[in-house]
Amino acid sequence: MSLPSEVDVAIIGAGAAGLGAARALQNSGLSVIVLEARDRVGGRGHTIQAAPDITFDVGCGWLHSADQNSFVKIAGQLNFEVDKTRPPWREQAVHKAFPPPLRMEFIAALDAFYDRAEEAAKEARRSGRDSAANLYLEPGNRWNPMIDAISTYINGCELDRVSILDMDAYEDTEINWRVRRGYGALMAAYGASCPLALNTQVTLIDHSGKRVRIETSQGRLSADKVIVTVPTNLLAIEAIRFHPALPDKVDAARGLPLGLADKVVLALDEPEALPKDGSLRGATMRTEMGTYHLRPFGQACIEGYFGGSFAQALEDAGDGALAAQSIDEIAGFLGNDYRRKLKPLAQSRWAHDPFARGSYSHALPGHAGKRTVLATPVDGRLFFAGEATSPNFFSTAHGARDSGERAAGEVVGSLARG
Ligand SMILES: Cc1cc2nc3c(=O)[nH]c(=O)nc-3n(C[C@H](O)[C@H](O)[C@H](O)COP(=O)(O)OP(=O)(O)OC[C@H]3O[C@@H](n4cnc5c(N)ncnc54)[C@H](O)[C@@H]3O)c2cc1C
Repeated sequence: MSLPSEVDVAIIGAGAAGLGAARALQNSGLSVIVLEARDRVGGRGHTIQAAPDITFDVGCGWLHSADQNSFVKIAGQLNFEVDKTRPPWREQAVHKAFPPPLRMEFIAALDAFYDRAEEAAKEARRSGRDSAANLYLEPGNRWNPMIDAISTYINGCELDRVSILDMDAYEDTEINWRVRRGYGALMAAYGASCPLALNTQVTLIDHSGKRVRIETSQGRLSADKVIVTVPTNLLAIEAIRFHPALPDKVDAARGLPLGLADKVVLALDEPEALPKDGSLRGATMRTEMGTYHLRPFGQACIEGYFGGSFAQALEDAGDGALAAQSIDEIAGFLGNDYRRKLKPLAQSRWAHDPFARGSYSHALPGHAGKRTVLATPVDGRLFFAGEATSPNFFSTAHGARDSGERAAGEVVGSLARG
């Protein structure tokens, strides 16, 4: 779609949040355009065909808190099959890598940490004093480095950078499903009917005049209302400039940085030797470790997941480093013949992605309240959505989508009042 010169509502970003907002405004009678820098919709939701018979979600893959996840109903409406196989995260397919007695010890240490963290969050709410989650690791516990590794998968960073209050605010119903054809593919289908301008990078939002003036790589347009959904790491570096400036938003975004998680998919020869939807993780006693999903949906592949500083180091080491690390680690667990059986197909580099600069948000200690600050509209004209603005489902795709719907409701509400 070519760029209109004026619209009622401009939505910046066609990720889950932007699409959620656009869909919610579809029958509002308002003219709407979604301005997207990439040549595709979905943002951090992106499914690729890594090989003719291997579907790979480069970004989000799990319908977290599936019993409360708005994408589950959408999947039903769009005829996307939802797979309800339980995630294998707590089990281990190959005992050699992580013998059961050790695994049980680790799970007990992990659960004890979560219990202490929950108590600490209660106390923090009472006292109004937030703190860093790593303070609730048991001093000297030998599993601490691996508990930190789990944090790098969940939060995208180590526990010393995670607010205990924010961590506790996340609503995990512990039901996690998947979309067989890919979460990114579902988002693309969800966005198919939205009015989009792709390859349109917004550089300036000038809200000094009567109408909001937006400058993009494809020219200018004006809007009555603007919904901003770009990731916090871009707001933090002012990749989009606001005039007048919005220091509170920049400050909020800096308190809610995107951590880093990266994925790799390896083709697997002789797949029958490994169980379908199994989990592989070693008792490495290190934070620098990957976690592996064997044969997702029964496909002939292994998916690796890395987070935090280790993911950053592997990204910085250049293309192929994530795959090489995965093959080394898996061969260490399963035997050297896996070097021959595994072939790199695709990998993410979310920190290097200019339109994401990371994977998902967490609040730094002392900054849990910033999600509300970020979500608050400015002058009844600028509205903010995106996963980082979700009070309870931040860091997720459905949290992002719901936040877009919330912002669309605020736009409509502001018109009713005006
Ligand atoms: C590796 C990985 C694994 C994940 N796993 C899961 C999971 O299993 N389950 C889950 O629920 N979530 C998961 N997530 C998180 C989930 O993908 C995100 O929380 C969600 O997709 C964010 O949606 P959003 O709309 O807030 O932001 P985005 O998807 O980032 O959308 C923002 C859009 O704005 C665009 N944009 C940026 N700058 C500009 C500009 N200047 N002008 C115009 N457009 C711009 C971007 O290109 C993007 O399309 C994962 C993410 C990653 C990276």
